[in-house]
Amino acid sequence: MTETLLYIDGVWTPAASGRVLEILNPATAEVIGTVAHAGIPDLDRALAAAARGFDIWRKTSAFERSKILRRAADLLRERADGIARLLTLEQGKILAEARMETLAAADVIDWFAEEARRTYGRVIPSRVPGVHQLVIKEPIGPVAAFTPWNFPINQAVRKISGALAAGCSIVLKGPEETPASPAELVRAFADAGVPAGVINLVYGTPSEISEYLIPHPIIAKMSFTGSVPVGKHLAALAGLHMKRATMELGGHSPAMVFDDADIGVATKLLVASKFRNAGQVCASPTRFLIQRGVYDQFLEGFLAGAAKVKVGDGLEPGSTMGPLANDRRITAMEGFVADAVAKGATVRTGGKRIGNKGYFFEPTVLTGLSREMRVMNEEPFGPLALMIPFDTVEEVISEANRLPYGLASYAFTGSSKTANTLASEIQAGMLTVNQLSLALPEVPFGGIKDSGYGSEGGSEAIEAYLCAKFVSLGGG
Ligand code: NAD
Repeated sequence: MTETLLYIDGVWTPAASGRVLEILNPATAEVIGTVAHAGIPDLDRALAAAARGFDIWRKTSAFERSKILRRAADLLRERADGIARLLTLEQGKILAEARMETLAAADVIDWFAEEARRTYGRVIPSRVPGVHQLVIKEPIGPVAAFTPWNFPINQAVRKISGALAAGCSIVLKGPEETPASPAELVRAFADAGVPAGVINLVYGTPSEISEYLIPHPIIAKMSFTGSVPVGKHLAALAGLHMKRATMELGGHSPAMVFDDADIGVATKLLVASKFRNAGQVCASPTRFLIQRGVYDQFLEGFLAGAAKVKVGDGLEPGSTMGPLANDRRITAMEGFVADAVAKGATVRTGGKRIGNKGYFFEPTVLTGLSREMRVMNEEPFGPLALMIPFDTVEEVISEANRLPYGLASYAFTGSSKTANTLASEIQAGMLTVNQLSLALPEVPFGGIKDSGYGSEGGSEAIEAYLCAKFVSLGGG
């Protein structure tokens, strides 16, 4: 049994009320631990600590901040095996993915540690001799951040590292259903020497916490990762209180495969990507738009790949896909499949829950889809692959851009002309061609349209936590 506590002002602490929430293992639906449930008195303490922490941290040199962040990255690497196990137990993903997520988080911290030392301002030539015009980059202030359960470490590490690299303090509301691994992430920062108050970690009732933190005068910026409806609600709240906001929301990513693509490569990469983390990935490929000439070949290859996916407990060696993270996802998958079938879709494989212990769902491939079906419009966030044939480049661009989402998009083509056309016409924050690598620390990560705004990767990411101050220095 794990007992995850709140981390406030440098101390691991239960909630003032003593209240806890139970944690389930999604592979068994058994209780495996608890997490402290913060109330308003706990949030008040976290806010006061973040205000004090900001005062200390903004005056800590970028050089020193960078050294502490690097130490945190090293600690995370040393502890990766134990942390990955906690992550799998609470979230369900296979151990190899959990380990990769932990190690990738260390790389994210290293990236931001480097960026901390490069928050350059600039000098603007003055109109008046003897006057120096400077632009200075300053940390915006204490940040309120909200992260979800699908990548409990990875979503948190981007926000914590960006904020800390810039010199901000942070109050993070972690995922209540998967709290232990983000708590270990915070422990790595604390053990590395981040002063008390700079990072505060709370769990509780999400709406209560966001409605208290975002308008609070101590908070200068908010950052949210989660669903589009919640994101819109929180963006409105941030706007009402004039708080800067970063929104990493959902997607419904098109994967476009053209007649001239290497179908073997496309199939192999897309099967692996679709069923990674059981499809509970904001950038997961969802609409497989396949040009007519290779449709049958791709579908056959994809079905063969799906048949090889070994669904099982993430801790079992040999499992290649774990359970869904919670029972809401089972209900959602069953609803999407039933709606599509009722409207004429064919289930080519999968479509059902596996057993009645834990939240396992079959890798699922649907054909015969049409635009009235819910799954063609709403983010499935699960192991559903939608196969849709197309004929022309114009047609596929129109379908790819049809939805209000605009996060990731993928294409496989042997034609540089097609690739170029997609690069200019696809409405998405990210496009990869003939490979799938995105979300590296050094490249921008984020969406457009309903998928949100701001970037959590690349040199853009630290800017979200900085303000530009103009200073004009006269002689005298
Ligand atoms: P949900 O929409 O209620 O919650 C999504 C996330 O937002 C959770 O982490 C939750 O704690 C948080 N949240 C919800 N209401 C909040 C509020 N008022 N203030 C602050 N945080 C709040 O549903 P869910 O069942 O947890 O997740 C389902 C949907 O969420 C998925 O279908 C998917 O679209 C989306 N999701 C997206 C991501 C992502 O990486 N972008 C991650 C997890 C979930």
